[in-house]
Amino acid sequence: GSATPAPVAELLERRKRVMGSRPYVFYDPPLHMVKGEGVWLIDATGRRYLDCYNNVPIVGHCHPRVIGAIDRQMRVLNTNTRYLGEQVLDYAERLGALTGGELTACAFVNSGSEANDIAWRMARAWTGNRGFLCQDFAYHGITEAIEAVSPSAIRRGQSPDHVRTVLAPDGYRGPYRHGTPDLGARYAADADRAIASLAEAGLKPATVIVDSAFMTNGILAPVPGYVGALFDKVRAAGGLCIADEVQAGFGRMGEHFWGYQHHGVTPDFVTIGKPAGNGHPLGVVLTRPEILDHFCEQTAFFSTFGGNNVSAAAGLAVLDVIADGDHVRRAGETARSLFAGLQALKARHPIIGDVRSAGLAFGVELVRDRADLTPAPEETERLINLMREEGLLVGSEGVHGNIVKMRPPLIFEAEHADLALEMMDRALARL
Ligand code: PMP
Repeated sequence: GSATPAPVAELLERRKRVMGSRPYVFYDPPLHMVKGEGVWLIDATGRRYLDCYNNVPIVGHCHPRVIGAIDRQMRVLNTNTRYLGEQVLDYAERLGALTGGELTACAFVNSGSEANDIAWRMARAWTGNRGFLCQDFAYHGITEAIEAVSPSAIRRGQSPDHVRTVLAPDGYRGPYRHGTPDLGARYAADADRAIASLAEAGLKPATVIVDSAFMTNGILAPVPGYVGALFDKVRAAGGLCIADEVQAGFGRMGEHFWGYQHHGVTPDFVTIGKPAGNGHPLGVVLTRPEILDHFCEQTAFFSTFGGNNVSAAAGLAVLDVIADGDHVRRAGETARSLFAGLQALKARHPIIGDVRSAGLAFGVELVRDRADLTPAPEETERLINLMREEGLLVGSEGVHGNIVKMRPPLIFEAEHADLALEMMDRALARL
């Protein structure tokens, strides 16, 4: 590289020429990052940003133990699972143990999308059914089968005939609000409608897929009984259940390693991606051995890069860092104090209508009017850019684009939380 980094405008033009004329980038003008370090991202001008967008490097950018494990393994051997190897077995056994020994069979792939795609194919093979259920504004990935259950990503057109969406349990803005008795059961009842609608088309559900943190639906705190009732209904109709833990897993929600544990359910599939390799591409489907065996009888499943020695070493290092640092428990503590801080901001800034936490994932919903809940998407966009000016990176989310999404890494300390709250407070005051 050159001594002086290229100006942002020049990079953007270059990018448009070779990566499509509609660049999907954060911020205007976008940021040019050149280095990551723990909770920090550093841009080409040398400015440091506190990374609260974080949904991949869950133990921090460039974690030395993860880098060390990748580097050591890369120098010795990197090959595929057509040969026997120990790392991938160690990793599979560790993951299975983390599910309490329920889902001990692993299919290794390279991304969250692939993991969900394979789980869907396994569910179809096992049940013989073709219907697919998801939340009304879900995101689960980029393959054709999985885009069909990612309504938040479908810009034009509609879901295909075998897909039915169900209401996400949004107790702030949805049809049933917090304080309604049996909130979880009320929302879950929408699955009866969806399953009946499939039946009218001559279909039964093969599976339902649920992001345990309801991230694209605006980050919803667990609603007691909701996921359990939804899973019961799908199972009663002959389907299986996928917990998409691509974002919710690995201690993101605090207290438990998996997000689904917060819902008190046992899924038939757990799919992982993003944080599994802390940035190294790694995806896995965890399921029951009989389901994987059945699938492998029907198809010669093999992924060239899936489960390679280096990916397995990266995955093991991430699990070690999380366990050794007691990060799952600590994430719960950090989440509680950040949640209290965000609620204090809500008390002082009327534009904040709601603050919710799925552990270390927070949704801060902005409204023009707290009584009417009129969404404030333009203000949200402005706030996010102001926060960037203050040095804090976050995202936006939700059907109306009026929810600030914050996901600090598990290694966030009290000092970082204080800093994030101060920067957000200043940005809100400037709004
Ligand atoms: N599931 C969820 C919940 C996700 O958030 C994402 C990515 N945003 C995916 C699946 C897809 O993962 P990937 O981009 O690695 O294919």
